[in-house]
Amino acid sequence: QAKAAGRRTWMRYDDSMEASIRRRATLAGALHKALDRGELRVVYQPRQSLATARITGAEALLRWSSPEHGEIAPDEFIPLAEENGMILEIGEWVLREACLALQRWRQHGLGGLTMSVNMSVLQLLRGDFAGVVRRVLDDTGVPPQALELELTESVLMANAAQTALKLQAFRELGVSLAIDDFGTGYSSLAYLKRLPITTIKIDRTFIADLGHDPEGAAITTTVIAMAHGLGLNVVAEGVENQVQADFLALHHCDEIQGYWVSRPLDAMACMAFIRNRRPPAPRAAARPATPP
Ligand code: C2E
Ligand code: MG
Ligand code: MG
Ligand code: MG
Repeated sequence: QAKAAGRRTWMRYDDSMEASIRRRATLAGALHKALDRGELRVVYQPRQSLATARITGAEALLRWSSPEHGEIAPDEFIPLAEENGMILEIGEWVLREACLALQRWRQHGLGGLTMSVNMSVLQLLRGDFAGVVRRVLDDTGVPPQALELELTESVLMANAAQTALKLQAFRELGVSLAIDDFGTGYSSLAYLKRLPITTIKIDRTFIADLGHDPEGAAITTTVIAMAHGLGLNVVAEGVENQVQADFLALHHCDEIQGYWVSRPLDAMACMAFIRNRRPPAPRAAARPATPP
């Protein structure tokens, strides 16, 4: 009896493993055609300064709606794209889309914004990605100072020696570099100091703890102080409520990103959001409130 039950449990586990392997293979195949079929799109999540309340820019986030498989989360399909190298083509497409969107916002009078784009380790270590970035900036007209590339902490640590050298090429281009999901890896302070980065993004798991877990608060305040000591800009990810935003403002975090500011939006909606959050220009304020 017990043995039979155990055996059934094992069979179910085995079946679900097989199903998951099959899903991965199916999705990888579908992803191959997704770009050409127009199933990929980029959404933009605004980032806000705590000191000025102004929107400072946005992060480009990839979305995949497959007619066969529905909406698939980046956490599921990005690893697949990294495994088979498709991330190189997809990553370049995202970068170009994001720069085109930013340039459109700039042409509509929204200057001084930064566009952040997530970068996979494969893009950093394979080929001439700095050359790709330079070309996209040239093609779209976006100044390098308006672009920030995000790399996850685990990626930076796993390839320490190689990445420091590669990252320098981006800094020489003039683009900013952010460490994403900070606090989830094992960065040493000494190592952080040697990387040519400009921004630290505190992982949202620590932000979620603010307000009820003293450890989350301790880690957050420590990271902010350390980053400022190193002359870095600090962004808190996943800010969902006023308690978290107030805590971060009190501890001099520079910027926040999260549902509290806005969900990710399509390029047009994000432009409208940024415009609405800006104080009206003096000339606009001088005009009568209602047209004659
Ligand atoms: P990430 O770069 O850390 O992006 C932040 C994630 O947090 C996004 O998930 C965003 O939608 C989500 N988020 C934002 N605000 C909140 C909030 O207040 N609460 C909660 N619970 N979540 C929030 P998303 O879009 O599902 O992306 C997941 C990850 O996939 C990203 O994490 C990034 O590592 C990766 N990714 C997304 N787009 C790209 C891309 O174009 N290229 C690469 N290489 N990776 C990407
Ligand atoms: Mg990111
Ligand atoms: Mg992150
Ligand atoms: Mg992440």
